[in-house]
Amino acid sequence: MQLEQEIIVQPYDREVQILKALANPARLAILDVLRDGEHCVCHMEAYLGFRQAYISQQLMVLREVGLIQDRRDGWNIYYRITDERIFNVLNAVRKVTGQCDPELQKPKIPCTCPKCSAQAEMGSK
Ligand SMILES: [Zn+2]
Repeated sequence: MQLEQEIIVQPYDREVQILKALANPARLAILDVLRDGEHCVCHMEAYLGFRQAYISQQLMVLREVGLIQDRRDGWNIYYRITDERIFNVLNAVRKVTGQCDPELQKPKIPCTCPKCSAQAEMGSK
């Protein structure tokens, strides 16, 4: 016989998993960086100012619950959002708090990731 509590709680398990993974400022910041597409860890490092090991740790949590996926390209691993609908959740929360989008448009330190380097090269030509 199943406990009454289990019957009620079970359907929420997956939601709780996802919400738990979201309930961390560093992970929210990482998801914000991934709004404009896939990025490598060094890019997140440049934009967020966290250490790489710390970012990797947070990426693992996000990947474990299926919020992000990774793709290897040569020496680099790129991370991307699995289901963009997660941004609806994040946008809704941001509306509730009334806060503006954080300023993530500029890197804290110059980014040397392959993507940014390619862009800088294109701009200089
Ligand atoms: Zn970059």
